Amino acid sequence: MPLHPSAGPDHAAFASRVARLGTETVFVVADEAAARAARGQVVYPFHLGDLDIPTPGNIVEAAARAMRDGKTTYCPNAGIGPLREAIAADLSASHGVTFDADNVSVQPGGKPVIGKFLLALMDRGDEVLYPDPGFPIYGSLIEFFGGRAVPYAYVAEGGGFTLDLDEIERSVGPATRLLILNDLHNPTGAELSARELERLAELVLRHDLWVLCDEAYFDVRYGGASRSLASLPGMLERCVILYTFSKKYAMTGWRLGAGVGPRRIVEIFNRLNVNGESCTNQFVQWAGVEALTGDQNGAREIVARLERRRDVAQAILDATPGVRCFLPATTFYLYPDVTGAMELTGLTDYESFRRGVLEATGVSMCTRLHFGPELPGETRRYLRFAYSGLSTERIRDGLGRLKTFVERHQ
Ligand code: PLP
Repeated sequence: MPLHPSAGPDHAAFASRVARLGTETVFVVADEAAARAARGQVVYPFHLGDLDIPTPGNIVEAAARAMRDGKTTYCPNAGIGPLREAIAADLSASHGVTFDADNVSVQPGGKPVIGKFLLALMDRGDEVLYPDPGFPIYGSLIEFFGGRAVPYAYVAEGGGFTLDLDEIERSVGPATRLLILNDLHNPTGAELSARELERLAELVLRHDLWVLCDEAYFDVRYGGASRSLASLPGMLERCVILYTFSKKYAMTGWRLGAGVGPRRIVEIFNRLNVNGESCTNQFVQWAGVEALTGDQNGAREIVARLERRRDVAQAILDATPGVRCFLPATTFYLYPDVTGAMELTGLTDYESFRRGVLEATGVSMCTRLHFGPELPGETRRYLRFAYSGLSTERIRDGLGRLKTFVERHQ
């Protein structure tokens, strides 16, 4: 007999914290797009930050080899030694500071670092500053674990986006203990200048904060060099880096990442591993060793392909009436200001615009609201386009349709 959806003891109300658990509403958009595709509509999936580029062959082969070699058992909770060493070496080289294997706790993806950081450092009622717009899991987990989520804004400046550090400083109160920073930012593509990072480091020291540096896109860049807050004087002792293989090696579904930071925090992460997943899949970790220590041509090719896609997508969006699109040097997202296009089409609220465009053109994207609620004073409207899951031809085709759709309303 099938299980009735409301079966179970009468007194079994859910724990009160469940009401505070958020989600990533982008998956709702993904389901809607998939349903349309199943009905035969041509859909252009710009909504999800996933890649249609295969994982480099040497990494796939290393996983297969590890499986054949019997690397199919439990392994150390902190992660296998060679992987922790390889991650420490990679970060030491890119950050100009010294990490060793004891600073690394391997995780099944970068995402678990967010929850473990909060569980290790946030008490009930503590305030946590987090970016809005930003990765929706920050706000969800802060509230779920009993903290208070205090959003800070990204502001449009000089064609791009930056943080209003004075505003952040004003948001710090007596209960503020943590800051979540996603420089190389999803969704805006923003990154702080060296001077802004220095100012932020001063603020962090002055208010004695812990920082989660979400560096998911640190190596996805098309020019210049990424900087990390953790590299600045006094920061290493109070920053935990979210490290992931997902984006730079096109390994989103493999689930491999790490929390990297002070040993005393990493030890808590490892104990949380013991209490949760025990360890990250062992043969996936051996693939990670190959990713970091083997041939890097695959990773270079991924970034080169993404760069071509970025250029095509940005040029079409920026040429669309009522759209202004900044060209970020990092991430695989574009976050154009579409206020004018929404006015032209008469579809002036986010959901009607998103649905109207999807219906008329097949282009599926996220709106600003998929990255948190609008903050007081926000007047411009933004969409997020992920160009990591479509070829340049499909980007041209899909965004060309979007452009024609808006032009018809001129
Ligand atoms: N942080 C940011 C800003 C992201 O955009 C993502 C994925 O989209 C993640 C963390 C988590 O990625 P993963 O768990 O695949 O490493």
